Amino acid sequence: MPNKGSVLSKKELDAVKDNLIERRHEIIHKLSEVQDQSKMNETDIAQDLADKAESSYTKEFLLSLSNAEREELLQIDAALKRIARGEYGLCRTCQKEIGKKRLAAIPWTPLCIECQEQSESEAT
Ligand SMILES: [Zn+2]
Repeated sequence: MPNKGSVLSKKELDAVKDNLIERRHEIIHKLSEVQDQSKMNETDIAQDLADKAESSYTKEFLLSLSNAEREELLQIDAALKRIARGEYGLCRTCQKEIGKKRLAAIPWTPLCIECQEQSESEAT
């Protein structure tokens, strides 16, 4: 079944997915190294961060991340979900295709370049 609207082929999506999972693991691993291991279970956290955000140690873990890392991790999680739903590569705001070049540079981005620029100019 082809992904409706997705700009990427199944093979490309699989590569992106591997990439995202690896990046996610890197962030989590880096952090679990500096954290108290008795409390942290890397595998548990790695399962599904967004769904587990309610549990207190996941919250603690998220708080221990820098803003940039936390943001990136959540974006990666969201991107993996979009892949699962066949929505990856489409802008969250305008539903248009996010360019392949942009996806290659920032695989977890939920926004196309136009919407990204707009949200940045609104934030300032
Ligand atoms: Zn857009």
